[in-house]
Amino acid sequence: MSVPFLDLAAATAELRPALDAAMARVLSSGWFILGREVQAFEDEFAIFVEADHCVGVGNGLDAIELALRALGVGPGDEVIVPSNTYIATWLAVTRVGAHVVPVEPDIDTYNIDPSRVERAVTDRTRAIIAVHLYGQAADIEPLQRVASARSLWLVEDAAQAHGATYRGKHVGSLADAAAWSFYPSKNLGALGDGGAVTTNDSAVADKVRVLRNYGSREKYVNAIIGVNSRLDELQAAALRAKLPVLAEWNNRRRRVAERYLAALADLPIVLPAKGAGTDHVWHLFVIRCADRDRLQQHLAANGIETLLHYPVPPHMQEAYRHLAITEGALPVAEAIHRECLSLPMGPHLRDDQVGLVIDAVRSFDFAPMSKSKA
Ligand SMILES: *Cc1c(COP(=O)(O)O)cnc(C)c1O
Repeated sequence: MSVPFLDLAAATAELRPALDAAMARVLSSGWFILGREVQAFEDEFAIFVEADHCVGVGNGLDAIELALRALGVGPGDEVIVPSNTYIATWLAVTRVGAHVVPVEPDIDTYNIDPSRVERAVTDRTRAIIAVHLYGQAADIEPLQRVASARSLWLVEDAAQAHGATYRGKHVGSLADAAAWSFYPSKNLGALGDGGAVTTNDSAVADKVRVLRNYGSREKYVNAIIGVNSRLDELQAAALRAKLPVLAEWNNRRRRVAERYLAALADLPIVLPAKGAGTDHVWHLFVIRCADRDRLQQHLAANGIETLLHYPVPPHMQEAYRHLAITEGALPVAEAIHRECLSLPMGPHLRDDQVGLVIDAVRSFDFAPMSKSKA
């Protein structure tokens, strides 16, 4: 008996008739790039996140990059990013030629700490990227206050938070622009790569629309240096089949999370905490344990698959060695990366599997010192 981290085959199986119909529709249309399905998905997703505009792009990394470019962020600019995030957030900043300025998170919510953001602003800062990490909205209101006081753009990296809300409003409509990924394992996942930018600013939407298609508004007329980064018709059709169940699938994730939270509360581990005014969609259920590696081995020996999000923080990756950020310089991020462990989570995790995970965690011999010190 084993429990997979995430069962994507079960997700596809549940929606198989709708996905088959979606694929068939595209195959019969004979139209594969920038057609009716993309247009319809953009309309439907904009309505879902309560944003005025949605522009489909090739993937989440491109979505962040094109949002930054559309806002005019470029060489010489500084962009504030969370010190603990998936590296794509940083890569997008680097790809537009700007400098990443990492800011530490709040240790309870794992999201960027607005008071530290304020202290990191310089006269070269152009933008702040707030990542809604693990499925929980970042604390947007204080970030908005800093952004408007200092005339900075605020960009959401919503790649892990499809359906999440902040003070009753959907993420993806809270800032100047928001970037989405539809990588298959995300809460709303395609059958391959996909991404989108949502915004309430029609000029930003228009700019992303031109940038994603070679910088061309009209075929063979190229106004700016664009890229080729388009959501394709098959992916858009698949996403249209999956969007109607997103809310229900997020509710299933919430039920799994509630069981974990109740059943593991007395153990010497740190459970995820809810931020004020946020409604978690549990992209990941991340615990912290000082004895993380032994706990992970114990779970593996009991057939429980776990992952680390993430094993190495961006500033300690080879790719960012040139920033010369020394080990110990970002202690909160480093502690999270050292101690984090993601338990199986997803809309197709069965009740009996949740029980197996709980039993396996509870049967671990926690050393007296295993309570996290961070
Ligand atoms: C997945 C992810 C991305 C990148 O999305 P891709 O579609 O894989 O390029 C960016 N930021 C965060 C926080 C992510 O989780």
